[in-house]
Amino acid sequence: MDPRELDAALDLISAEAKRYLAGVAERPLRAENADDAADSFAGTLPEEGEGALEPLRKLVEDGPDASITSAGGRFFHFVIGGATPAGLAADWFASALDQNAASWVTSPLATRLELVTIDWLKDLFRLPQEWGGVLTTGATMANFVCLAAARRWWGERHGVDVDEQGLAGLPAPPVFSSGYLHSSSYKSLGMLGIGQETVRILSRDGAGRLDVPALRDALSSLDGAPAILIGNAGEVNAGDFDPIAELAELAEAHGAWLHVDGAFGLFARLSPRASHLAEGVERAHSATADGHKWLNVPHDCGFAFLRDAASLSRIFGATAAYLPGLDDPRPTLAYSTPEGSRRARSFATWATLRAYGRRGYREMVEGHLDLAQRLAGRIDQAPDLERLAEVPLNIVCFRYRPEGVGEKELDALNARLGEAVLADGRVYVGTTRYEGRVAFRPAIVNWRTGPEDVDLLVDVVQELGAQLAAQSRVETARSTA
Ligand SMILES: *Cc1c(COP(=O)(O)O)cnc(C)c1O
Repeated sequence: MDPRELDAALDLISAEAKRYLAGVAERPLRAENADDAADSFAGTLPEEGEGALEPLRKLVEDGPDASITSAGGRFFHFVIGGATPAGLAADWFASALDQNAASWVTSPLATRLELVTIDWLKDLFRLPQEWGGVLTTGATMANFVCLAAARRWWGERHGVDVDEQGLAGLPAPPVFSSGYLHSSSYKSLGMLGIGQETVRILSRDGAGRLDVPALRDALSSLDGAPAILIGNAGEVNAGDFDPIAELAELAEAHGAWLHVDGAFGLFARLSPRASHLAEGVERAHSATADGHKWLNVPHDCGFAFLRDAASLSRIFGATAAYLPGLDDPRPTLAYSTPEGSRRARSFATWATLRAYGRRGYREMVEGHLDLAQRLAGRIDQAPDLERLAEVPLNIVCFRYRPEGVGEKELDALNARLGEAVLADGRVYVGTTRYEGRVAFRPAIVNWRTGPEDVDLLVDVVQELGAQLAAQSRVETARSTA
């Protein structure tokens, strides 16, 4: 290992990253040779190293073709943000300084930046300043952290320290949510030993909307036994919300723990135009949001917020003779999450908040709300497109529905169209099942996305849809001839 390679290595990557990012508006979302390009990285461990520059040249040569252009503004799949200039550059610097955000001893800077960041985020999301929080790898891990705190609280109500003694001998914790519950919460409940199937889903329709009276009845029948409610602020198919304030009221009335998954929906609280959707989160016991989605910092980054963050060290505090003690006055953030050594993801979050401020983020969110309405308007005007849901936030759920195609064939047609759109590469958007129907669900989260990108999405779906519909008409004619 030769330190003299460092300058050339960083210069190469910096120059190539700039070149790549300058071109994301023109790049296909998925190169035609993406699979082959990815496979070209296979190979065995080299006996002799090639030096720093060879692998880096390989990365910049074949890496972009093997990648999805999710950094650009025409990526609408899942809910994935880009990276702001400040966020990206600060994240690079976190790697250069190679800070371990485990503790004050490993990095005063990473620890201080994380504490400042959590305070700023609480301010941004209008959460009570007395709350605590911690950065995680994403909303999955943030849900895990918050539900771990809920599990501990629930055990205490039964007189058991479940982090010390486990769940054996206790009843199954009553956990309730709507059909909007995200897969990551199921995963978290499984990892916590509560069990994925323990959660009772109370929905009143095919979309998964919360059945409030059923929840009220279920809570009443517990006779004051502690329960855990999971509210969903921003569901992935249409961007809809559980009635969080009603959930908060029920939680207060029945002494239940309310956790709110606001991976992207918590950002509704940044704009007076959308904040009503997520009203009541401030009355919850815990809440999550994502950094790598709507905050537009690089992967990976999420946030867990808790009313009582002090309990986290009872769950995740893992001391040893060589590690800081639990009573050390200097913060050890590793004792608030499952991870020991931790990436200093606060660099990017702190830098982007400082770079663009409350107003910059409000304007970005409102710009995306406008784009979602523009998209909904284009869909409503198109005779061959059908919108399937209201558009409260930044996701538009719709399907292709040309004249003369029966309901029974629409699912297959939209599924094939979904594949065709991904292969086409001008835009990137996935399909889902909404109220039983195959549908597109573009999510607008990237700071680079503009009206032209949204318009292109509509054009591409219509153009490829017409081709597929014509093809299937020919096939039907042939098979009946
Ligand atoms: C994306 C998402 C998650 C999971 O977040 P990751 O950052 O992918 O771990 C959880 N809940 C909701 C509502 C989400 O949209």
